[in-house]
This record gives sequence, structure tokens and C-alpha cells, in this order.
Amino acid sequence: MFGCNPSLNHDKSYQMITHSAEVRLVAYRNERIVETELSDAKNGKVVWSPKKSIWVTVMYIGAVMGGVLTFSIEALVVFVSTMLVTLCLGHSLGMHRKLIHQSYGCPRWLEYVNVHLGVLVGLAGPRGMMQTHDMRDWAQRQSECHDYFSHQQPMLIDAFWQLHCEVELDNPPIFKPELSFENDVVYRWMEKSWMWQQLPWAIVLFVAGGIPWVIWGICVRVAVCVTGHWLIGYFAHNEGDRDWKVEGAAVQGFNIRFCSLITMGESWHNNHHAFPGSALLGLEKGQADPGWWVLLFFQKLGLTWELKLPKNLPERQELVALKRT
Ligand SMILES: [Zn+2]
Ligand SMILES: [Zn+2]
Repeated sequence: MFGCNPSLNHDKSYQMITHSAEVRLVAYRNERIVETELSDAKNGKVVWSPKKSIWVTVMYIGAVMGGVLTFSIEALVVFVSTMLVTLCLGHSLGMHRKLIHQSYGCPRWLEYVNVHLGVLVGLAGPRGMMQTHDMRDWAQRQSECHDYFSHQQPMLIDAFWQLHCEVELDNPPIFKPELSFENDVVYRWMEKSWMWQQLPWAIVLFVAGGIPWVIWGICVRVAVCVTGHWLIGYFAHNEGDRDWKVEGAAVQGFNIRFCSLITMGESWHNNHHAFPGSALLGLEKGQADPGWWVLLFFQKLGLTWELKLPKNLPERQELVALKRT
């Protein structure tokens, strides 16, 4: 598959390369999304989500008011270190590359720990994250989809939609996770208690450093991560470099180079649209992927195995390599 992968340069014009005829190609589909005859990703309405909106507003108020009043270098260190751990081990490795895509193997306890760290990012519980991810992934692969899924509205409207609202499709597909996940008592508990999971850490931070550590380790961190998650999503579906096109999809992903370190590799989003099941996101030489580096380190310790690469995935009939000319 990588035989036809072009090297990177920054010319913006593209030329398509077709696959060789003898390779058996299959269309990628998400097994958890069950389409009905009526399923349609375009028609629906955006509605205010009280729970999401109040949660993020409380974090913003804590971050802005408390953050200014309690700033110190120590508090800043707490913010940066808790952010890096929850984004890397939690959001990228636990929630996204493991729970949602099963792109590598690891012991169950490590999966639970990392998904818990992912919950601490403050976006949703494990089931909520999986559903939001899978619905967006499905919608973006349809020929047309609602602007909510494609981030096509002006930035301020998109920010309000993504941070305070949700979309209600007129005819959504059915979201049906694997029974092993639905019946998992740990994940059921994590889903019910996702907001409260900040509390024990808030107590630890309070005991260790008082109110400033709680404000910076919880409120500022959650406010920054939730806002950053939206911003990356906005740009990763609007502008950047592309090496791949998903034929027939309403929305393409883009690679955002300058965000690769802070997003732990997640900003190689064009690569992710092309190879959703790959544990490696920075596919090309020079594409920094800190999440992948941690997976390799864990592999040395025997904590991760069977790290999937694009060559381990079925070839997709709808995937086209773009050669920049
Ligand atoms: Zn995407
Ligand atoms: Zn994904």
C-alpha cells in the first residue's frame, strides 16, 4: 500500500494515483453503526445540550476567574503535566487508539487506567466518546452530511455548536457497540460517573497544593483541552495537507503539522481518515507521533503488542493516494 505513497512537499496541487487491479479491495465500515434504509447524515437540527453546556461553562468560569487569581509557576507545572498525561495516555492511547479503534493489544488493567485518564480530559464518558466519534466518522463518510459533523459553519457558530450543543438527526443510524463493551461493569460505571471522576483527583491536588492546584489541574486543564479538541477538529476538517482522499466522502481529514506534538500525533488527521485502524498516526518520515513513541516504549516493557500499521489493514476500495505535483 505504501508503494504508491508520495513523499511530502508543500505544493497544493494534486494528482490521483489508482490502485493496481489485482488487489482485493473492501470498503471500510464501522461495525458499531447500523444503517437503516432511511439513515441520513444531512437532515437534522442542532439543539442546546444543557449537561454539556453547563459542564463546560463551569470549567470556563473556574479557569478564567480562578486561573488569574491563583496563578503560580507551580500551578502551571501541574496544569502542563496533568494535561500531557491525560491527553497522551488517556485521550489518544486509551480512548481513541485502543477503546474506539482496537489498534493495539494491552492488558485489561492498562486499558481501564488509560480510558479513565481519557475520561479526565472532560469531553465525555467512554460510551459517549465512542458514540460521538463513530457517528461523526460515519456521517463524514456519507456523500452529504450536516454542517455539525463537517465543521463547515463559521468558527464562532461551530464553537457554540460543538461545545454547547448536539445534533439530532431526523433519521440517524443505530449506534450498537459490541456486547462485551456494553456489559462491561467497569465501563458502565465510568460512563455513569464520568464527571465525578475528577473529584478524587481534585482532592489529591487540594491536599498536595491547595486551591491553586485544583483550579489549574482540573478547571484550566479541562477548559483548555475541551476547547483545543474543538479547535483541532475544526482545522483538521477544513485546511492542511493531504496525502489521501476518501472517494465519495462528504468530508476529508487534513494533517496539521504544527499541532502534532501537543495533540500526541492526533493531528495527522488525513492519515487517520485513510487508515482508521492504524495505531501509528504519523505515517511519513518527519511526522511526529508522541502517542506512537509511548506505544513503542510500552511494547519494550511487554505492556502493548500487535500494534497495527496500515499494511495490516484491509485495503480500501474508496481510498486514493494523492500525489502532489
Ligand atoms: Zn475526522
Ligand atoms: Zn478515530
